[in-house]
This record gives sequence, C-alpha cells and structure tokens, in this order.
Amino acid sequence: MTFNSLKLIQPILKALQEEGYESPTPIQSQAIPTALTGRDLLGCAQTGTGKTAAFAIPILQQLAKQSTDSRNRKIRSLIVTPTRELAIQIDESFRSYGRHLDLRTSVVFGGVNQNRQVRELKNGVDILVATPGRLLDLMNQGHISLSDVGIFVLDEADRMLDMGFIHDVKKLLKALPDKRQTLFFSATMPPEIVKLSGSILHNPLKVEVTPESSTVEKIQQGIYFVDKGNKKKLLVDVLQNEDIGSALVFTRTKRGANQVVKMLNKKNIQAEAIHGNKSQNARQKALGNFKDQQTRVLVATDIAARGIDVDELQYVINYEIPNIPETYVHRIGRTGRAGADGTALSFCDAVEKEYLRDIEKLIDQRIPVVEEHDYPLMDNNPPKPQQGGGRNHNRNGGGRRKKSGSRSNSSGSRTRRRRPS
Ligand code: AMP
Repeated sequence: MTFNSLKLIQPILKALQEEGYESPTPIQSQAIPTALTGRDLLGCAQTGTGKTAAFAIPILQQLAKQSTDSRNRKIRSLIVTPTRELAIQIDESFRSYGRHLDLRTSVVFGGVNQNRQVRELKNGVDILVATPGRLLDLMNQGHISLSDVGIFVLDEADRMLDMGFIHDVKKLLKALPDKRQTLFFSATMPPEIVKLSGSILHNPLKVEVTPESSTVEKIQQGIYFVDKGNKKKLLVDVLQNEDIGSALVFTRTKRGANQVVKMLNKKNIQAEAIHGNKSQNARQKALGNFKDQQTRVLVATDIAARGIDVDELQYVINYEIPNIPETYVHRIGRTGRAGADGTALSFCDAVEKEYLRDIEKLIDQRIPVVEEHDYPLMDNNPPKPQQGGGRNHNRNGGGRRKKSGSRSNSSGSRTRRRRPS
C-alpha cells in the first residue's frame, strides 16, 4: 500500500515524502481511511507503530478541507496525551506533516511558565496538543474553549489511567461538544479502558496492531543474570564496548536514575538523567543532548521515557526489569524503530526472575542469556522484597513491590557482596 492510495491531499503527501516515509505502517493503513470519513476509532497500538501519523494525518486533512477564517482560528482538534515529552513530540509531528498547510498547532503542558503557551493560544490555534492538568488549568482561567472541537484524540489512554488522570479526562469530556469524532488510542486494553472507550466512542472501528511480536522480533535481546549490588559495575563494563554509540538506560526510580548518572559520570561516561523531578527545561535539554549525541547515555524512568523517539537509537539497557511485562515491550521499542536494528540488554537479579518469566510469556520467546560477563549471579536467595508474593498490579509509574522496612535493611548486605572472581 502507498500513501497515494489513501487519497491524501497533495500538501500532506509532499510532507510525508520529505519525512522519508515510503509507505504507511499497518496502523496507518488501517486507521487513516476510516478516520478520514469522520468515524470514531478505537486503536490498540503503542508508540513506535506510527500511531501519531495515524491520527495526525486524517486530522490535518479534514481540517484543511474545512473553510474557516484564518484570522479567527478556533481549536478544532484536541489531542490529549499523558506526558509532556509525548505532547511535544505529537506537536512536532503535526507541524511536520502539516508544514504545507495553513493550519496552526500548539502544545500546552505543565512544569513550565504558562505565558508563552497563553500567547500562542491568543494568536489562534487550529490543533491543540495538551497534557490534562495544564489543559484544565488554562480552561479554568478562560484561555481555552473546547466548544469548537470537532475531532478529539485520547492518546495512551491506559497510561492516562495509570497516572491517575481519569478524573481530569472525565472533566474534559464534559467540556467537549457531544457531536464530535473521537479517536481513542491505548497500548493495552484492560477492562477499565474497554469501559472508558465504550462510554465515549460511537460505533468505532477497532484497529489493532500487535507490535509486541513484530517489534520484539527484530530487536536483538540479551539477559545478564547479575546480583543487584553488581549492576553498576556491570553497566560500566557493558558500556566499555565502543560499538555502543548511545544507550537509553531504564531505571525504576528517579533516585536510581540519578545514582546511575552520578556513577557513570565518575567513570567518565557522559550520562544525563530524565525523570519527573527534573524541570521541563532540564528534561528537554537532556533529551536534546542525547539526540545530538553529545551525551552518550540517557538514564530514564518509564514515565519520562514514554514516547521518547530518538532516531537510530541502537541500545536500550534495562538496568532493572519492569514488573509489568508490557513495560518491557515499551522500553525496548525505543530501539529498532521504523525498520532500524536495535539491541536490548537487561540486567536481572534473583528477585526479578519472576518478572522475566512474565515478560517471556508475553513475548512468547526466551531471551538469550549472556553468559560471558564478570558479575554472574551468585545470590540466588536474596530476601524477598515483600511477604506473601503476588504481583503488584499497581501499574502506576512502574511501581514494583515495596520493600518492607526491616527487609530493605537486610538487602543492604547484598550490595556489599564481593565480586566473584
Ligand atoms: P510513533 O509510533 O507515532 O511514535 O512513530 C514512531 C516512529 O516511526 C517515528 O519516528 C515516526 O517518525 C516514524 N514513522 C511513522 N510513520 C512512518 C512511516 N510510514 N514510515 C516511516 N517512518 C514512520
């Protein structure tokens, strides 16, 4: 299939050609024709599948065909997404695909002064990309009206719920016109999402892509079994390999990300952290440095990394194994994008072995074990992080099981374990 056969208008075709897109991805070829007719859509797809263009292209085309007064622009399409990084990237995508159209896109998100955002809104905007909190804030202040929104996109709905935005989303829905097209995207479809989608979509076309296997298949994966206390040394060893031009390293916590960065910097490995405690400017700067290859290693938490799109990222390193198997797929999906090669290496300690089992079940494959390294797992029976077992189903922020106070003390002894010879 070609973009031509999707009946796209010339200015969009031209922009896609300039972007170097040769043919639509599966989610695009399924979603675009239906979305162009104005029908609602329920898209089960994650970042990395080309889903942004799958909703951005039909929005741009529909808005471009409407006759409006360009001196008095109204927000005709609203895209709500859970994180600032994602919002910024979606805004950039709209600007790229719409660069030959007379449409204005703007983005609002929290963590930065609102003045610039308000100024842009005052100048008139056709397409608004937003995170929920800042959007509601600006609505409450009277800077944003949603009464002209004809196309609404709820992006990464599952993550939105995980991050506790459900009430914000419900408030937004009340402010949107009933008569509208809704495009709903979620990487996973747990029951709450099915319920939410059922309450806001009318006769949607369901489109689904299964990047789980397709993404995973083309990524080279490896697992290192290692004691928790040796992960830092192992990371340094792995990064000694000069073939690794740049790597995105995932930690579970913000504190962990900072510690890893500090340790790498001490070893003269250029690294920066990106997580929710950093100001928006610091996050953008870190991301920019990484994209420009000024920083070799970007250490990120899951929420901050959601949607990070770095061209030709070759290595993802899971410094800690996520307890939600889908998170593993999201993480490693940062590499191997749009047909490129990628490698995902994961450090697994004894406690994380059960998360690894869940991941292998989800991706339906065994991840090859890297046997040759200096820090093989010795401590197979570390203290359990939580009594009673059972998986923590709190998907918020990748929350792994919490250690009980007394046990977390005892785990300290593991970090002092001597390096095996
Ligand atoms: P997304 O899932 O929207 O985050 O897109 C993932 C990556 O794929 C982004 O870098 C896009 O620029 C790229 N992309 C999207 N659609 C296409 C396409 N049809 N051909 C090539 N690359 C694409």
